[in-house]
Amino acid sequence: MTILWLLAALVLACSPVQAADRTIYLTFDDGPLDGTSNILDVLQAENVPATMFMVGLHAKSSPESMALVARAKSMPLVTLGNHSYSHAFNRYRKFYADTEGVVADMVRANAVLGLEVPTHARLPGRNVFRLPNISTNDLSIDRIEIGIEEPDYEFVAATGFWLYGWDHEWVHDGTGKPVQSVTRLVSEIDHMFTGKVRFVRPNKLILLMHDEMFQDTFNGTANLTALIQGLRQRGYSFGHLPDYDSLN
Ligand SMILES: [Zn+2]
Repeated sequence: MTILWLLAALVLACSPVQAADRTIYLTFDDGPLDGTSNILDVLQAENVPATMFMVGLHAKSSPESMALVARAKSMPLVTLGNHSYSHAFNRYRKFYADTEGVVADMVRANAVLGLEVPTHARLPGRNVFRLPNISTNDLSIDRIEIGIEEPDYEFVAATGFWLYGWDHEWVHDGTGKPVQSVTRLVSEIDHMFTGKVRFVRPNKLILLMHDEMFQDTFNGTANLTALIQGLRQRGYSFGHLPDYDSLN
């Protein structure tokens, strides 16, 4: 009996159930869009923190969008982040060739979103970190987008925009429909923690998602609830992004 208990304890010790020191940071890009209100509802119902990296132009598109920004800002669980004013109009080469233009665009988004520096920010289309204790570049740029310009990220950070990238993505297709099932995504996250994947910060995983994935047509509310409950069941914690860079 003693050996059986010992074995059970060993199995538990090795399983993700013991993963409370493994922290997931939920991040949602490109809002406010269809899907944003569902996300906020789920965060509230499940009582988990998350970061909404919003786009100034989307916020300004309607009073309803501005109301979503205000709602996100009013929620202590939510960190409101800057994801640029224009989203580079999805013309990244032109946008990133001009560092001062990038900063001006970020400043403009801060004005719309009511944010102050230092601001938690994510640049459109760039998986780059520039934080007091972390600096990493977007490896995919060299690999698949040779020739695309890169701004002076140090300058962008020095003007007060702390840049966050991501470790893993819940991918979506051109319509916004999620590609991986919730089960598949949870399994991918398990494998990342148990495998040899190097995180930007050990035992901390920043998950990238997009607001448009959580529209009613894609069962957004049910999907996000299932993801959060699935990760919680497996013992993961959910972190506040402003704590991510702390060395403690
Ligand atoms: Zn984006």
